Amino acid sequence: MYQVMSPKAEEFISDEEIRECLEYADQNKNNAAVIDEILNKARKMKGITHKEAIVLLDCELEDRNQEIYRLAEQIKQEFYGNRIVMFAPLYLSNYCINGCEYCPYHAKNKHITRKKLTQEEVRREVIALQDMGHKRLALEAGEDPVHNPLEYILECIHTIYSIKHKNGAIRRVNVNIAATTVEDYRKLKEAGIGTYILFQETYHKKQYEKLHPTGPKSDYAYHTEAMDRAMDGGIDDVGLGVLFGLNNYRYDFTGIIMHAEHLEAYKGVGPHTISVPRVRRADDIDPDVFDNGISDEIFEKIVACLRIAVPYTGMIVSTRESAKTREKVLHLGISQISGGSRTSVGGYYEEEDEEDNSAQFDVSDRRTLEEVVHWLMDLGYVPSFCTACYRAGRTGDRFMELLKSKQIVNCCHPNALMTLKEFLEDYASPETKEIGEKLIAEELKKIPNEAVRRKAEEYIADIHNGERDFRF
Ligand code: SF4
Ligand code: SF4
Repeated sequence: MYQVMSPKAEEFISDEEIRECLEYADQNKNNAAVIDEILNKARKMKGITHKEAIVLLDCELEDRNQEIYRLAEQIKQEFYGNRIVMFAPLYLSNYCINGCEYCPYHAKNKHITRKKLTQEEVRREVIALQDMGHKRLALEAGEDPVHNPLEYILECIHTIYSIKHKNGAIRRVNVNIAATTVEDYRKLKEAGIGTYILFQETYHKKQYEKLHPTGPKSDYAYHTEAMDRAMDGGIDDVGLGVLFGLNNYRYDFTGIIMHAEHLEAYKGVGPHTISVPRVRRADDIDPDVFDNGISDEIFEKIVACLRIAVPYTGMIVSTRESAKTREKVLHLGISQISGGSRTSVGGYYEEEDEEDNSAQFDVSDRRTLEEVVHWLMDLGYVPSFCTACYRAGRTGDRFMELLKSKQIVNCCHPNALMTLKEFLEDYASPETKEIGEKLIAEELKKIPNEAVRRKAEEYIADIHNGERDFRF
């Protein structure tokens, strides 16, 4: 029985409900009247339900599809403007006791090099990341209570926040680790994490159990209910994701929106972010079974329909995707991307080489952060290294209120420009700096509130004169 307010995974992600929605969408994919009604609701930019969203995803009417893309772009523009927040993953350890069939870190993979960073190695990695210009990290680690217990993760977070190299600083540490207890989530909150990220991989219970035959992650309910426990532990920014290509994409698309609805209804705050990774080739993983199961076209439509369904949720695309694909989805709703990523343990300090097989997946977009920043600005985007909300205590419902009030434009935009200015001063090549300075001058004019605009101009002049870390 479907119940959005239930604490039970199998009730808030009801298989029966998803199947009914998929059937309804299939019946209505050419029904102009039904689709128009959904589009009318979507134009209010307050979101649509999972049942409505899957109809849009399935829609086969070309003119309505064009309208879906237009609307996704408008929503992206309205809430996120032309800003793209930058981050990098930091792999701490690839020891893992789980048996996930699509991940090379699975416990049975005997020919992968197992590594865990010491605190000294964490320092080296973080300094390398700071020297690239990163301010926001997503920590990644396998699940292994012996090699990577929570205490190890907490120690790493502490180390990361303590490192101030030249003008660098990591100002927000997001964490992507295995589902755990309320008590552990409380400790992560106390350690000052930003978002807690946990990918569901797939919402289809049987397929989930097949793909996770061994280890603690094989417990579907414990994994699916993790975000509720994280919120009970005081973490109010959580990040959802499915790994597209593991299961029928229509099923998982519907499931992830139901999960977002559950968090909003049951915990009062929807997800802070949704990630849209697709399965990639990796060591000891059968490429014929998992090879980007969804086409680029469907991937783009998923991004657009998610943007329409959950306008208040940031959307992330990683370097799993090529520069070309990333370019195609940016304007449809992506608000955060990674840049200059290394997906191996220790890969920032030491260049990854052919011998090193500790990477979790092949990176498609191998450009440096500087190149990605340059590319974004060429496309008319403002790369942002902003971490202001979390540091000003604007998390959870306080963050959502600001976003919904659309006042965020007076916040995000100046913050984006100021953090971009820091990047240009400290890490950019002369060519990138030249483009960036022009962009900042143009974009400052777009800040609607005059007092904020003047203040931002002052801060930018101060940054030029060597000061750092201003925020609204
Ligand atoms: Fe371990 Fe995560 Fe890989 Fe599964 S996906 S094997 S839990 S690192
Ligand atoms: Fe994100 Fe807040 Fe910065 Fe805007 S002001 S980019 S919402 S951290």
